[in-house]
Amino acid sequence: MSLREQLCEYGRRAVELGLVIGTSGNLSVREGDLVAVTPSGAALDRLTPEMCPVVDVEGYLVEGDLQPSSETPMHLAVYTTTDARAIVHTHSVFGTIVATTMTELPPVHYNALLLGGVVKVAEYATYGTPELAANVRAAMEGKKAALMANHGGVTVGATLEEAFEATRLLEWLCEVYVRGLSVGKPAVLTDEQLKAVVERALNPPAFPRRL
Ligand SMILES: [Zn+2]
Repeated sequence: MSLREQLCEYGRRAVELGLVIGTSGNLSVREGDLVAVTPSGAALDRLTPEMCPVVDVEGYLVEGDLQPSSETPMHLAVYTTTDARAIVHTHSVFGTIVATTMTELPPVHYNALLLGGVVKVAEYATYGTPELAANVRAAMEGKKAALMANHGGVTVGATLEEAFEATRLLEWLCEVYVRGLSVGKPAVLTDEQLKAVVERALNPPAFPRRL
């Protein structure tokens, strides 16, 4: 699948899964110095490959008739400072609730480790601005996800599939936390408990074979 075809596929899935309503999100995928990105103002479930612009990492338009997503500066800021090869940004409901009410998402489930543990909320700045790009870049440092204050969430991956799954996981973690608050006080995993999870994952016990 070409990079632009991948944007169409995952754009459609993002809308189908309710992670994106209409135009409220954007995706990109990088190969070398080129980045294919979803176009500005287009419904993500109705994209065609030709609609998706290609820019270089410096932000110059290389291919396509439509304007790249207004959040492209944020995508490029992450690409130029990390080894990410794909980025997914959405205004998903539970991610946005956490981003509107908290300064970070505490790790209440060990799967938070797949995103780097605590997910930080990047300071608020107007959408599409270099300030927002810088805030997101800072919050993402060493992690695969960040939330954007009063805005939404963003995840990265080595492939678009990976970044997309990270977005699904981020939304799930936010949903568990937010729904948990209505039942009681969610218990946060300690550093020691998280360390034990990493050790367990690195040394899985082998089942003995019956002879
Ligand atoms: Zn946005």
